[in-house]
Amino acid sequence: MSKVLGIIGGGQLGMMLTEAAHNMNEEISKIIVLDPTENCPASKVGAEQIIADFKDEDAIKKLSELSDIITYEIESGDSDTLKKLQAYTEINPSPDTLKIIQDKLLQKQFLQNNGIPVAEFAIIENKEELDQMIDKMGLPLLLKMRKDAYDGRGNYKINSKSDIDDALDLFSGKSLMVEKFIKFEKEVSVIAARNTKGEIATYPVVENIHENNILKMTIAPGRVSENVKKQAERIAEKTMEVLHGAGVFGIEMFVTSDDEILINEIAPRVHNSGHHTLQSSDTSQFEQHLRAILGMSLGEVLIKSPTIMYNILGPATFQGEYNVLCPKKNNIFLKMYGKLESKPQRKIGHINIVDKDNSGMNELLTQVEDLKKNLVIEPKQT
Ligand code: ATP
Ligand code: MG
Repeated sequence: MSKVLGIIGGGQLGMMLTEAAHNMNEEISKIIVLDPTENCPASKVGAEQIIADFKDEDAIKKLSELSDIITYEIESGDSDTLKKLQAYTEINPSPDTLKIIQDKLLQKQFLQNNGIPVAEFAIIENKEELDQMIDKMGLPLLLKMRKDAYDGRGNYKINSKSDIDDALDLFSGKSLMVEKFIKFEKEVSVIAARNTKGEIATYPVVENIHENNILKMTIAPGRVSENVKKQAERIAEKTMEVLHGAGVFGIEMFVTSDDEILINEIAPRVHNSGHHTLQSSDTSQFEQHLRAILGMSLGEVLIKSPTIMYNILGPATFQGEYNVLCPKKNNIFLKMYGKLESKPQRKIGHINIVDKDNSGMNELLTQVEDLKKNLVIEPKQT
């Protein structure tokens, strides 16, 4: 029987989940998203929308009354409210898992307790504790907000004790933790899925390039040794074995110069570094997520065509309505998110550049450089 799917969040991830659901008419009859922004990206591709804050208890309740199954595309939903509603509506991934992941300290403790490698960390409740931790762990350290952080905005690198006051001022009133600063060689991630029957599938490890703490590019598959690839995929699988609930998870990791792998953080949702799957694989991460929460068998995760995903961020030079000029070629796939306004550093779309004729990753990287020169985001002339 076809189900009504409720999604908390209707941004670009909700939009691409909605599009994937359109191809699953037999399983999903309707999509309703909860999102505070009027005409959110998901609503533009056919999702109904409840306009309310992600944490609005009444709105979450309404969503659950209207839906057979609930999922989310952001991690800031109210996990306590969701937990109560679980008795009436199926929610995946489970609110308990969401609650752990929402708090970076609980998340790190959970991973460590399950024998999954993470950077050394500690809770910090005041200046004295931070001072002591610096003595114990050494510098540099990262001071991190435990909750509601994104795009690195909840992180402060402490290089010397003279940074302490500024760091604590910046996050005044927030719960905090510190983490050893890892001099990583590469950032990689694994998109992993677990369905309601407990089956697990992991896409091949990919490499992520950040600029100003925002993901700029994903190289799929990642240029890593066979050993790193195996380790990363094994760690992702192990993580999926211990987390409750079903769905797709984005598992961000560091690779050190000794090929050691540490988990940085987990997103309990489809992930920006999985957008390449729209072209590189038979099953996109969005379809995979729906298959996982609906209890269907998981789809093929092989990367058939190496792909580079390039994020289109709003330029620093203006804010407002915009035009995009993107070179047209048969291996360039432009995906815009339907956002009315461009803002500096805002994700407004992405491009997948696909190696259709097996010319290799270096050639693909050259094509990305060309693309960067020819891609124009300009203010719309009125
Ligand atoms: P996102 O950027 O994924 O929205 P976020 O704001 O929650 O997430 P993190 O993922 O914790 O932040 O950190 C952002 C970036 O900061 C990481 O991608 C990585 O480049 C860097 N970083 C985080 N933790 C560490 C660490 N312990 N050592 C070195 N660099 C780190
Ligand atoms: Mg991150």
